[in-house]
Amino acid sequence: MDDKRRKIELIMIGRIIKGIAGFYYVHVEACGTYECKAKGIFRNQKVKPLVGDYVEITILSEEPKEGSITKILPRKSELIRPAIANADQAVLLFALTNPEPNFNLLDRFLVLMEWQNLPVVLCFNKSDLVSEEEATAVMARYAHTGYPVIGISAANNCNIEPLKQILRGKTTTLAGPSGVGKSTLVNLLHPEAAMETGDISRKIQRGKHTTRHSELFFLEHETYLFDTPGFSSLYINEIEAQELCSYFPEMKREEEGCRFTGCVHMNEPDCAVKQAVSEKRISLSRYENYKQMYQELKAIRKY
Ligand code: GDP
Ligand code: ZN
Repeated sequence: MDDKRRKIELIMIGRIIKGIAGFYYVHVEACGTYECKAKGIFRNQKVKPLVGDYVEITILSEEPKEGSITKILPRKSELIRPAIANADQAVLLFALTNPEPNFNLLDRFLVLMEWQNLPVVLCFNKSDLVSEEEATAVMARYAHTGYPVIGISAANNCNIEPLKQILRGKTTTLAGPSGVGKSTLVNLLHPEAAMETGDISRKIQRGKHTTRHSELFFLEHETYLFDTPGFSSLYINEIEAQELCSYFPEMKREEEGCRFTGCVHMNEPDCAVKQAVSEKRISLSRYENYKQMYQELKAIRKY
């Protein structure tokens, strides 16, 4: 029986959900996860497989499930930080309180995602800890950005169904600083995650600053969630100061009204962006963070 099976070369399409020490774990929706080597892929295609890649595998064995990656299928998208393939969107998770949201960090992340062309959904967790007014005040800062904003409580299972709707049929990367409830949310969306990796070892790894690798969780049909390590490297250094404003969607919408083309909305007269800030059509905190990042980028280029 086994021998007969081996003679037929079985080829399947799956998705790399994890890479560890030269092995790639390829998830095939109908059959499960295969441990694969990727011999010759780099030589033939000159690309390194990424978590999230759709790949063609040849099945070598069913028990244990083993295969060999023979081809990487064309990527729809590729992120540099984190290095993942085929993400459709990012869900950016912050807490409404405990810890207080760091809006500078949040805006930096938004810039990085705009720069990498990835749509973002803003998600604020721990709604159970604040009043409705407080939650609304935080979320109102982003009302003019165009980003969808959702408030949830992972602990109380509140608003999780609308979040699931946002995820459905897509591949989402979940990002956020530590302490905001990422693990709690992942465990809620994907209960097996805790068992697969072991809740305790996950925590220890996080605390130890070891390089955690990105991992992709299969949630339901055609729905995947990237659990990516850390949030520590939010370098925006590769961005030119002059182009920074194009990564603030609400500013980009106003810039047509600026007197000067190429207005960077700092000290120029008749600036429609500054006007919009004074009329509260652009939130002051977003604009302040823009100015700070702009100065930072200017300073970098001087050296
Ligand atoms: P992570 O560091 O982002 O993975 O955060 P954790 O999932 O470990 O959560 C950090 C702490 O916040 C834990 O004590 C959680 O129990 C708690 N927590 C997570 N979600 C919520 C929530 O919706 N409401 C409240 N009150 N606490 C939460
Ligand atoms: Zn301007």
